[in-house]
Amino acid sequence: MGFNEILSPHRQDLESMTRHALDQEPTIEAVAQHGLCLGCGTCAGICPCDAISMVISEGKGAYLPKVRNDKCTKCGICYATCPGHAVDLKALSRATFGDHPRDLLIGNYRECYIGHATDYDVRFNASSGGLISAILVHALDEGVIDGALVTRMSAENPLEPEPFIATTAKDIINASGAKYCPVPTNVAIREILRNEGAYAVVGLPCQIHGMKNAEIALKKLRERVRLHLGIFCNHAPTFWATRLLLTRLGVDASQVAKIDYRGQGWPGATTVKLKEGSTKVLQDYWTFPGSDLFTSKRCLLCCDLTSELADVSFGDPWNLDIPQGAGSSIVVARSEKGRNLLQEAEATGIVDLRHAVADQVKQSQLRMLYVKKRLLKARMKLYGTKVKINADLIDPDLSDYVLAFVPCFVSTLSQNRLARMVASRLPQDLLLLYTRPTNRLLQNKLQKWKWTSGSL
Ligand SMILES: Cc1cc2nc3c(=O)[nH]c(=O)nc-3n(C[C@H](O)[C@H](O)[C@H](O)COP(=O)(O)OP(=O)(O)OC[C@H]3O[C@@H](n4cnc5c(N)ncnc54)[C@H](O)[C@@H]3O)c2cc1C
Ligand code: SF4
Ligand code: SF4
Ligand code: SF4
Repeated sequence: MGFNEILSPHRQDLESMTRHALDQEPTIEAVAQHGLCLGCGTCAGICPCDAISMVISEGKGAYLPKVRNDKCTKCGICYATCPGHAVDLKALSRATFGDHPRDLLIGNYRECYIGHATDYDVRFNASSGGLISAILVHALDEGVIDGALVTRMSAENPLEPEPFIATTAKDIINASGAKYCPVPTNVAIREILRNEGAYAVVGLPCQIHGMKNAEIALKKLRERVRLHLGIFCNHAPTFWATRLLLTRLGVDASQVAKIDYRGQGWPGATTVKLKEGSTKVLQDYWTFPGSDLFTSKRCLLCCDLTSELADVSFGDPWNLDIPQGAGSSIVVARSEKGRNLLQEAEATGIVDLRHAVADQVKQSQLRMLYVKKRLLKARMKLYGTKVKINADLIDPDLSDYVLAFVPCFVSTLSQNRLARMVASRLPQDLLLLYTRPTNRLLQNKLQKWKWTSGSL
């Protein structure tokens, strides 16, 4: 199948999205070379010739596409659907909801909620409230879907994620919990195209962008993917973050039998089970510096925090006086289909939901929203990047450039092997020193930021 044979009413949107950026070298190799690859796996999943595999790059600590030139027919669909070099949030929003993003910070929405799965174990072992897993189980039970694209850690290589199509409640629940490492989710597009049926996909904002591009390109995919459950995301740490985490816990990577980045209530703990039977626990992942140190360039150029194109999006209810305990999620229902599914799930008793307002969602994510919606233009200028983003963004002021610069510098530094070695040996408090002045500046700016609905 060639790109010219692809039928889609939104084809024009897709073409206009991709007619820029790396115009001189429109290949996914160029996307990767320019540091714009998100590692989402869309290219590998959609390639009609199985010419692309996602391979962990030692140098980047992330997945990159590897193309087999002997198999490639130069059809161009990989580049055309790649969300790494171009994201047209406005066009994708129109294709999804028939409308521009209504809210500058969190996109289109119909209702917001705070809630959790009613099964205690599902709730306790999940990232926040176990709602994604519970809603998927409900959709499977009700015959809305035949399978769900979720991600577990590989049994063979416990430090590598494994996106797969879950077709049982047990598999969905076993794949719950956040994976704080690169995940090439959309390689599973291949499987969805191969097998008839109706599917839900779970993904980070960038993975949903790639999935939506692919659905625009391929009618068959669009018909099969019936539900998009989006995860809020400020960044996905590279594999180096996991390595630093293991070093801090005094664990040799070869001894790991299983890692659970989240779980054990909310906000939860990171648990590493060793092959010899013992368990190491990092109580507070949020104070662990590796996560911020090892952020990819492309994550610093991301315009979507709350998975604005999903039917329903889920995040942690930070800053909302939610007591620590079994866990809760903050929820944004965007499409009618998504809202109805939530309400039906609540009626069966599988989830517990109470209404929230959009400002609570924003309050819970204020710092990250500032970074994505207000610092992005500054970061793009600092990087001098070729990424093309069409989204509503706020103009930064001069001091925003300082806030934008530090993570860009740290991300670039973290590519250096010597810097990584130093970071792994420095005491945590010393390592975090660099964040203090910018945290203070950001805190001041957040206090003055007029972010409530209608004030931007
Ligand atoms: C990298 C990352 C960054 C995040 N950043 C934020 C943030 O800034 N603010 C915030 O409020 N919340 C953030 N979250 C989301 C939050 O941690 C929870 O995942 C979310 O609230 C859903 O919780 P849940 O208990 O309903 O999901 P669960 O029932 O635990 O289900 C989670 C689902 O997501 C899938 N999944 C897990 N990790 C990945 C991944 N990396 N890629 C694709 N699929 C995955 C799992 O397979 C599972 O199906 C982030 C999550 C991740 C993975
Ligand atoms: S489709 Fe995804 S994995 Fe492939 S090059 Fe683009 S960003 Fe990277
Ligand atoms: S150009 Fe076409 S055949 Fe070649 S790698 Fe990309 S999708 Fe596959
Ligand atoms: S910050 Fe953006 S690009 Fe990075 S993993 Fe999250 S959604 Fe993807």
